[in-house]
Amino acid sequence: MAQGKVYIVGAGPGDPDLLTLKAKRVLGEADVVLYDRLLNPVMLDGVNAELIDVGKSAGSHNLTQEDINRLLIQKAEEGKTIVRLKGGDPYVFGRGGEEALALIDKGIPFELVPGVTSAIAAPGLAGIPVTHRGISSSLTIVTGHEEPGKESPLDWNALARLSGTLIVLMGISRLEQNILALIEGGKSSETPAALVEKGGWPEQRLVTGKLGDIAEVARQAEIQAPAILVVGDVVKLSVRLAKKKIAILRPDSQLEESAKLAEDYGFKPICAPSIRIKERQLPADLMQRILDADCVAFTSANGVNLALKNEIVRQSLINKIVVSIGPKTGFALHSFGLIPELPDEYSSAPWEDIRSLYSLRQSRRNWIY
Ligand code: SAH
Repeated sequence: MAQGKVYIVGAGPGDPDLLTLKAKRVLGEADVVLYDRLLNPVMLDGVNAELIDVGKSAGSHNLTQEDINRLLIQKAEEGKTIVRLKGGDPYVFGRGGEEALALIDKGIPFELVPGVTSAIAAPGLAGIPVTHRGISSSLTIVTGHEEPGKESPLDWNALARLSGTLIVLMGISRLEQNILALIEGGKSSETPAALVEKGGWPEQRLVTGKLGDIAEVARQAEIQAPAILVVGDVVKLSVRLAKKKIAILRPDSQLEESAKLAEDYGFKPICAPSIRIKERQLPADLMQRILDADCVAFTSANGVNLALKNEIVRQSLINKIVVSIGPKTGFALHSFGLIPELPDEYSSAPWEDIRSLYSLRQSRRNWIY
């Protein structure tokens, strides 16, 4: 039987658009995908392979590292093409190297597909460049959660003396102790600090403060793993570089469209639907009013959709001048087979301007809108 192959693939921080082209390609070729807990499941949509969740959440291990290695070897020996999909980059605190060594020991071919590491991408997406000319010219990435009894424990005193940016992964469970270690090592408690939670996910959050108060800020905001602690002056740049949030209050049915538009303009949309469109009975004298009018102006697509549901209203508009205020309203009229007399240009200019546009050819006629 042909020998299988294992791709050890980085999935990036969470946004499926941050998968590399190669990651996407090998996911399409895989017979089996073994994936981790930190992964956004959206990435596996449409992947036609056996999907195995080997997720490891702190404390409740599904499978041990040895179990995972064994599973990789077993599937490869069955001749399968396997994607071992890991959050971020497989070789940054991802145990990708250990799995690669286990495969090498068995003579199983493997290939690394590097990923966008959350250590750099999550701060970046939150508006914190990890280095910045004139502010920070080095970057140190450490784990905040060392396994006890490690041979080479982190030297927090040495870390405290570094002047560049410090990035702490897995930093939530021992946040207070690590911060204390930095301050005791001589790092000023005034040093800017931030936590980025779920960078690259729709729920991404950033909290900022100083080394001396960031643990309290995080507690208040109930920041949870996965999150990254950033310590250093680069944090200050987030004031200008973080996406501005924009609240969208439109009705549920129109939120998605507006959220997309906000994203296209570089905002982070906060969806807070506060308006509901409720259909009311048409006024009893509406027909008469329409019959009396020469021109009918629609000011919103909602107005069009509600009013033109009524066949008699639709009929009564024939032979009248129908005006649409705004292109969306125009499209809605089109969908009912009505061709509005669109102005060439839409503007928020006072109504009189629009009226005068039409008064050129339709003076002294009655309007309804
Ligand atoms: N290999 C991964 C890191 C695995 S260690 C990578 O390169 O990104 C797990 C830690 O990574 C988490 O505890 C957290 O500190 C960080 N992390 C992973 N994904 C994250 C994300 N989307 N946002 C913030 N932190 C993240």
